[in-house]
Amino acid sequence: MTEHAPLSAGQSHAIPQVKLALITGSANWGLAIPEDIGVEGVSVIERDLSFMTPWGCSDNWKLLEFDGSVTPDGQTYRALCMYSHGNPRHEIDHSCHRRAFWVLQEAGVRQVLACSTIGALNKAIQPGDLVINADIIELTQTPYSLLPGRQSFDASGKAIVCAECSEVLVGAAREIWPAQCRIHGIEQGLVAAHAYGPRLTTPAEALAFRSMGADVMNHSIAPEATLSREIGACFVPLAFVTAGFNDYMDRNRGTLLQDGVLPSLSRVASELALKTAIQMAGRGECSCHELKTPQPRERASRF
Ligand SMILES: [Zn+2]
Repeated sequence: MTEHAPLSAGQSHAIPQVKLALITGSANWGLAIPEDIGVEGVSVIERDLSFMTPWGCSDNWKLLEFDGSVTPDGQTYRALCMYSHGNPRHEIDHSCHRRAFWVLQEAGVRQVLACSTIGALNKAIQPGDLVINADIIELTQTPYSLLPGRQSFDASGKAIVCAECSEVLVGAAREIWPAQCRIHGIEQGLVAAHAYGPRLTTPAEALAFRSMGADVMNHSIAPEATLSREIGACFVPLAFVTAGFNDYMDRNRGTLLQDGVLPSLSRVASELALKTAIQMAGRGECSCHELKTPQPRERASRF
């Protein structure tokens, strides 16, 4: 493993060519992924990588390797792993997603697996449940687009979560997710609302999103999903519930998250992320890749 000094102006590491990206987040807080999890066949080739982008530097990347002894086709694969959605460590910067996904675009990434925690707006979804939503509500439509101009590409809003990758995730989850917690697959058609945060959702906001049809609340899903579409990659979220609907509505309790859910599940969620990534490695073409389509040249050139 190579340790890198902080990047100075004009210095950048070369972006490796990989097909898979793993985005860690609140589901893994307090854990070094993959170092603290110990999944067989997973190793860190390099960590603390920084890549220069047209909008500045993107930091805190790792290059992982999945040994051929654990992958479905026996080939060795590498993947980029991004800490906490590419956020800088000491400030809030929502434009970080554009830098991070520019890196993934340059890397040639075709599958993105993103980990986060969620709150339930649907009373039937309980703390500890794993939810692979089928759709998202994002009222700001991700301000930090990567498309090269308005008329060059059509980026579909359909199938924003990849059904094939969801199947892989559910298959891995059935092996290790705690039996007392449920797994809600993409076939349930659940909807995740996105709010940037980091302030957690108010009771009024939770009710508003619920009335719009959202089943769960996620602070880390829409930029990831939209930008995955914009780079022509599959996207699948690995998210588990840390607050139930009644936790949102109780104005007499200052805190939102339920005690104990996050620490007890972050380790198994991290193991699940790595085992799913191993199973996703080496996947070929998917119908998701056709949902970003070039537009006729005259739409951009004649006006
Ligand atoms: Zn796909």
